Formats: sequence, C-alpha cells, structure tokens
Amino acid sequence: MTGPGKLPARDFEEIRLAEALERGRCPVCDARQEANYAALRGLAREGATDRGLRAQMDKGLGFCQLHSVGLSKMELVQTSSQLATAVLLDAVLRRRLAALKRLSGDDASGQLRGLAELSDAKCPVCARGTEAARAAVGRLMELSADGAWSAALGSGEICLDHIFALGLAAAAGPREVHARWSEILAAQLRRLESLQRTLAEYAHNSTSDRRHLISAEQQAAGAASIRLFGGTSDRDRTP
Ligand SMILES: [Zn+2]
Ligand SMILES: [Zn+2]
Repeated sequence: MTGPGKLPARDFEEIRLAEALERGRCPVCDARQEANYAALRGLAREGATDRGLRAQMDKGLGFCQLHSVGLSKMELVQTSSQLATAVLLDAVLRRRLAALKRLSGDDASGQLRGLAELSDAKCPVCARGTEAARAAVGRLMELSADGAWSAALGSGEICLDHIFALGLAAAAGPREVHARWSEILAAQLRRLESLQRTLAEYAHNSTSDRRHLISAEQQAAGAASIRLFGGTSDRDRTP
C-alpha cells in the first residue's frame, strides 16, 4: 500500500500522515484536527442522548471555549439546529453552578483549589485531539526508520509545537530513534534557517517606501511563519 505520493503506507492512518506531509500540512496538526472533527461530529449527533457522557459530566467534564463554539457550529451544519448543544451546555452549566455555589464563602484556599479545578474544562474534544496527536507522533517516529519518511519529515512543514513534540518523543525513545531524529532535526533546522532569512527580508521590506520590493517568495515566507507558530490551518474541516 502506498500513499498518493512516494511515501510507503501500510494502513489508512499512515496514508493520512503521508498525505498531510505531501500536501505541506503538519501531519500531527492534521491528526489532531481530524480527531477533533470526529469527536464534534459524534457529540452533535449523539451527545445529547449519551448516558456515558452524562456520567462523565458528573465527574466534571465540560467543553473548552473553542469546542463549545465548535460543537454549536457542527450541529448547525449537520441538523440546522443547535438543540443538542443546548442540552449539553445546560447539563454542564447545572454542574458548574453547583460547584460555584459550594465555593461561595470566605474560605480563600478552598476557592483557589476549586477555581483551579474548574478552570480545566475537561473537554472531551481536546482529549481526543491530544490522544490522536500523541499517537501520530509515535507512528511518525516508527515510520522514520524508512528513508523516504525520514526525508519527508526533514523537509515537511511541521509546526514548531510538533517539532518539539517529535523531539521529546525521540529523546525518550531508544538510541536508534534518537539518532534518526538528529538527522531529521538537522534538515528541519536548515528549513527553518532559510525561512527565517526570507522572513527577515520580508520584514525589512515592510515599510511603505520598500513595499514594492516584496517578492512572492518573501510573501510566502510570511504565510509559512504563521503556519509554523500557529499550526496548519483547518479551513476544510473546522465547523
Ligand atoms: Zn502541528
Ligand atoms: Zn476543547
């Protein structure tokens, strides 16, 4: 089995990772976004009637800001309504209200502990995304034993957060994985040094008297730097 490009892939997950690299997307961002999307789709369809989910809500599960909005948009796209979102947010709000009422008093240290715990939304969509990103990092480190994958990881548009995540996984892995990562990192550093030089030229041309000197390459470096720090954008998928 192979992906649409040159990278050998044994299963659907590897085809996805290969496609992401071949399309200039960060494969770890891509895996996380796909998992987030699948989680939101499932919640919008079945979340309001899912008993297991209600039980988890009793243990503090809620939705982060991003995925509260994501859930409502997903449901709107799927069903033209936001009723399931209302059912779920009502259930979270009841539990948050009960928790906040328990905190109203003059016990400052109790409030500190309670509010710190409430500040973690325990978002199931984030949890799925984090798990998928972790699995993608592990799979990519395995795949780096193949020369074509190693080269693709060296030249691929991996975002900075996930360069760090891959490096951390490699550092914690066996010696041969660490050695493979050193080569990938060296190639990534060459890519980032070149990006930084072009970005500096772009920034230098940002004044109004120099703007006509901006090249297409410099403009592309500006966009690439945003992807480097912000992760691969998800216009196709995020509801
Ligand atoms: Zn990424
Ligand atoms: Zn979330």
